[in-house]
Amino acid sequence: MNVLVINCGSSSLKYQLINSESEKVLAKGLCERIGIDGRLVYQKAGLDKEISELAMPTHKQAIQFVLDALQNEKTGAIKDLSEIDAVGHRVVHGGEKFSSSTVLTPEVLKAIEECNDLAPLHNPANLIGINACKELMPNVPMVGVFDTAFHQTMPEKAYLYGLPYEYYDKYKVRRYGFHGTSHSFVSKRTAEYLGLDINNSKIIVAHLGNGASVSAVLNGKSIDTSMGLTPLEGLVMGTRSGDIDPAIMEFIAKKENLSIDEVMTVLNKKSGLQGLSGKSSDFRDLRAGASEGDKRCAAAIEVFAYRVAKYIGSYVTAMNGVDAVAFTAGIGENVGKLRGKIMSYFDYLGVKMNDEVNFATMAEEAVISADDSKVKVCVIPTNEELAICRETVALVK
Ligand code: AMP
Repeated sequence: MNVLVINCGSSSLKYQLINSESEKVLAKGLCERIGIDGRLVYQKAGLDKEISELAMPTHKQAIQFVLDALQNEKTGAIKDLSEIDAVGHRVVHGGEKFSSSTVLTPEVLKAIEECNDLAPLHNPANLIGINACKELMPNVPMVGVFDTAFHQTMPEKAYLYGLPYEYYDKYKVRRYGFHGTSHSFVSKRTAEYLGLDINNSKIIVAHLGNGASVSAVLNGKSIDTSMGLTPLEGLVMGTRSGDIDPAIMEFIAKKENLSIDEVMTVLNKKSGLQGLSGKSSDFRDLRAGASEGDKRCAAAIEVFAYRVAKYIGSYVTAMNGVDAVAFTAGIGENVGKLRGKIMSYFDYLGVKMNDEVNFATMAEEAVISADDSKVKVCVIPTNEELAICRETVALVK
């Protein structure tokens, strides 16, 4: 089967066409600046990237350009649309309604819309992408894969906030967690790769990218994760603050004369590595800055690592032990020095790193702990698109 995987944002859309038998990417790319002007990036496997400036007033138009590019006589990956057997859509928030991926029926779309309140920036954009695809490919089955679904197994003690219970009752204010597709994919792969029985395993996944979260996966099920009602909670991220004393919001609002919306913009877009360093949200820039003696870049890296270590430590407690820690996503897969710094907090657990392998490992599967380490530490590259493809195939086959 060929599965078109779509990740639709408010002004951009990423896509991959994946053959589910070979699990090879046939073509991939993105549409940017939808509703502004428009740019299509398209790359057939084995060929160079093509970039075209194309007017994309709507998402439907953007998807039409993707479908045209996929069928292009010279560089297309398929002859015609009959070769797309299913579409898998990333959906950010499934609230408490979705604990697994699901075929997108009109009832399901309505239920996703009911979650819009919980992710006002993301869910409406996801729905626009789904509806545009349905219009352009009315007979192709579509599946929604939710960022929150994997964490629906969290117990009440992990998902309730210490807030008046009525907010949970009335508005479903609780912890949901995100990056679920990645945490699910990586935890399963970690068990497989290390030869652990997933049904008898304690795995901690550190998804460290521009957005970052840690999860505790006990016997294959997420029992806690660092993001909450929104992706703002938890780790210090590229531009997000992660956990802060909530009273800071009022304090800064008064000092800087900011509205709630403006404070939220600071916490989501101007904080984290960006805010701490004053330089960049990109970890590569921070490393370069730190190596040139920039103290704020160095401090940002320390704060980032310390927060990750604290979460890992708390999840060791949550599971009363840990068999393996897996690092994934842009920073987790590529920065051995940071992995070493994080794991240096766990001498007390008998963690010993293999520095040579750790420092040499970039974006490939590897065990980076020493043979006699009591806890296995590994790098497992995430692949959310492949995970969405697999989920889609499982539901439409
Ligand atoms: P992601 O959100 O998973 O794409 O990860 C993006 C983050 O990973 C950014 O902070 C990048 O700077 C960082 N990153 C990606 N590749 C590298 C690398 N080779 N070395 C250091 N950081 C990297």
